[in-house]
Amino acid sequence: MDTKAFKKSLQHSENYHRKGFGKAAEVATLLKTEYQSNLVQLIRDNNYTLTRGDVTIRLAESFGFCWGVERAVAMAYETRQHFPTERIWITNEIIHNPSVNQRLREMQVQFIEVTNGNKDFSVVNSGDVVILPAFGASVQEMQLLNDLGCKIVDTTCPWVSKVWNTVEKHKKGDYTSIIHGKYNHEETIATSSFAGKYLIVLNLEQAEYVANYILNGGDAGEFMTKFSRAHSEGFNPDEDLKQIGIANQTTMLKSETELIGKLFERTMMRKYSPSQLTEHFQTFNTICDATQERQDAMFQLVEEKLDLMVVIGGFNSSNTTHLQEIAIERGIASYHIDCAERIDTNGIEHRLLDGNLQLTPHWLPKGAITIGVTSGASTPDIVVADTVEKIFALKANN
Ligand code: SF4
Repeated sequence: MDTKAFKKSLQHSENYHRKGFGKAAEVATLLKTEYQSNLVQLIRDNNYTLTRGDVTIRLAESFGFCWGVERAVAMAYETRQHFPTERIWITNEIIHNPSVNQRLREMQVQFIEVTNGNKDFSVVNSGDVVILPAFGASVQEMQLLNDLGCKIVDTTCPWVSKVWNTVEKHKKGDYTSIIHGKYNHEETIATSSFAGKYLIVLNLEQAEYVANYILNGGDAGEFMTKFSRAHSEGFNPDEDLKQIGIANQTTMLKSETELIGKLFERTMMRKYSPSQLTEHFQTFNTICDATQERQDAMFQLVEEKLDLMVVIGGFNSSNTTHLQEIAIERGIASYHIDCAERIDTNGIEHRLLDGNLQLTPHWLPKGAITIGVTSGASTPDIVVADTVEKIFALKANN
């Protein structure tokens, strides 16, 4: 499929909306009431610090809702107002935050169910409204919804679209896109649907394996097994790694994406000589500012003397998990929770890096303590405020 031509024709269709419906001011007031918090504003104004009793909260200087998420949520609210009686669907969680998604359900915005690993679009009828989330949707889904005659409201973050444009450029020049991301993350699924040939690498270790294969060759069977769910159809490691371009899932760790980019640049220089580099290697900066700012603020925060960290964000949120990784790497006791309700008198129920949930009792040390707090790009301030209040209350009683 000519994905570029399809996207262009979709954008000219009267059933396609990507700019809201002129109700921004009205919706902004609603969003402020539902998701913002006076307590968090107070902490911000007080140099990101608040002490109550023997607890000092140190908030990261950049955290929470990013521009792209705010925009997507606002567009979903506007959509409900603009189409008050139509059935409205979302192809996936609009963002990775349980409270926001719950609020949308209450507004009768329905989520497409996944059955046996596949999304069930059979429930969607012509004339229904379908919202595409902030991290996008695959080109095949867009085509299906367009063919069904749905009204499409596209809230895809422009930073994600920028990556799609990058892989389109790779495709045009016959470069294979090496995508730093998680092969089963919705954003990477969408990005790879716009790519021609592609290979998805999860981390530096996988990238090093690929770089080594480029330089020295290896066992193609082993290669294909290792990346069995992470490559384009018909991919051949002996043919398709001669011209490569770098792309990324916008929420991966910036430092790792950069290292991977540099690794492949060096690899292609060694393989083909510096003078031929541009014929074999392309790179564009597609790391989103918001992810980068939250990561930088986290690196700054973990330099301080903290007794523990609380990282707040959806359990399937990549950018939140990366914030948690930063704390763990520094050896700080850090708890990843998705809502304040994970904390009660029994302890804190939190997500480990392997994805399992664990209940840790007695997690708040006695005496005066300093707790670092941050939240991922899809977490509203109100969730941070509820968490901080809960910690204050628990500590006051222990
Ligand atoms: S984290 Fe970045 S790419 Fe993702 S929605 Fe926010 S601004 Fe967009």
